[in-house]
Amino acid sequence: TKQLLARVAAHEQLGAFLCTDEAVALRQAEAADARRARGETGPLLGVPIAHKDIFVTRDFPTTAASRMLDGYRSPFDATVVDQLAQAGAVTLGKLNCDEFAMGGSNENSAYLPARNPWNTERIPGGSSGGSAVAVAARLVPAATGTDTGGSVRQPAALCNVTGIKPTYGRCSRYGMIAFASSLDQAGPLARSAEDCAVLLSAMSGFDPRDATSADRPAEDYRAALVAPRAGATAGRPLQGLRIGLPKEFFGAGVSADVADAVRQALAEYEKLGATLVEVSLPRTELAIPVYYIIAPAEASSNLSRYDGVRYGHRAQAYDGLLEMYKKTRAEGFGPEVKRRIMIGTYVLSHGYYDAYYLQAQKLRRMIADDFQAAFRQCDVIAGPVSPTVAWPIGGKTDPVANYLADIFTLPASLAGLPGMSVPAGFGEAGLPVGLQLIGNYWKEGELLHTAHALQ
Ligand code: GLN
Repeated sequence: TKQLLARVAAHEQLGAFLCTDEAVALRQAEAADARRARGETGPLLGVPIAHKDIFVTRDFPTTAASRMLDGYRSPFDATVVDQLAQAGAVTLGKLNCDEFAMGGSNENSAYLPARNPWNTERIPGGSSGGSAVAVAARLVPAATGTDTGGSVRQPAALCNVTGIKPTYGRCSRYGMIAFASSLDQAGPLARSAEDCAVLLSAMSGFDPRDATSADRPAEDYRAALVAPRAGATAGRPLQGLRIGLPKEFFGAGVSADVADAVRQALAEYEKLGATLVEVSLPRTELAIPVYYIIAPAEASSNLSRYDGVRYGHRAQAYDGLLEMYKKTRAEGFGPEVKRRIMIGTYVLSHGYYDAYYLQAQKLRRMIADDFQAAFRQCDVIAGPVSPTVAWPIGGKTDPVANYLADIFTLPASLAGLPGMSVPAGFGEAGLPVGLQLIGNYWKEGELLHTAHALQ
């Protein structure tokens, strides 16, 4: 714990952390030592980790990387934070991210950008950018993130770490600051699928405090990851596994370097015994407009709670209640958050609801159905995570250009399917490329097994 805190301080310029607290971390480390002395064991006992600043924590401030929550401290811990503490993990601090998890570059943090350790002039991805940077720069062996439309998978890909977003409902959302509630899921980022499996097992399970939490027991994903597949033979551990390649994931939208790295990873899978089959997800392109209607709609509702009364920031001088609300929100929210509140309010308003929101909901169902059709032909779907490697900080100024970069992660999010990012090699300028693996509902074990085989 001490060594890593020193390492965090030495690499402050990476912008991975929003806060650390040595006293809290050492207290937790000592508690873990005491548990070990009592004979307790466990893969996470005494392991230093850090949490995306979207999870509320009693022992550290929680800001969601927003000025709106400057100085806010939660009276309770998020369920995921609590579960990892129960498992004995030690929290070093809170990790940078895009404000309220809105973004894919970490440039929307109200505090500071996070930098990609592979090239510090490049973005690390987002919104869980700090989490990916912290793991990639070896500041922590593992970290939590959240994924609404790709925020675990995409920064993992751009920073060369492994990350998994489980099936919607697998991890409790209690205490996870809400962005788009029908999409938000927690997930770990770590150095390997094996480490992700250990974290995900600790982070899953039914939580009566989250109405969308699935009533299914936590699984031992590490056991799933090491268990041999039925049909495996010596040297061909993935014999019989059908990997579906959606043709829409390999078209003109992908840069050549990313496509090459992904194809090479797929060739490795063939050597391991898997067969590649072409499948189709015909509504892939529609995932962008559908997501950028549904996510802002839910965000506009979720963010109405930041009114200057109940949480964090309040404007200093105002004339009456309405002005207090207006000034508080004008000062507290950054530009991307305001943009989404406006889009969301617009698509939900009378007269536009049917044309936009309802239409998007119908298409969301069709996108989920397309996946089920694809899973009749394959066990796991594979493709790129991001159409390009990490781009320069400040390099994408148009908001729509940022939205388009989410094309390959949004479909699984809209369908509520588990997805993960596995390091697949390097592309342009020596920057990392991630391979995305998407599984059917509750197939996290199979996904992690498949990812592990490549590592
Ligand atoms: N990049 C996407 C967005 O900006 C996804 C963010 C996320 O998953 N939290 O909404």
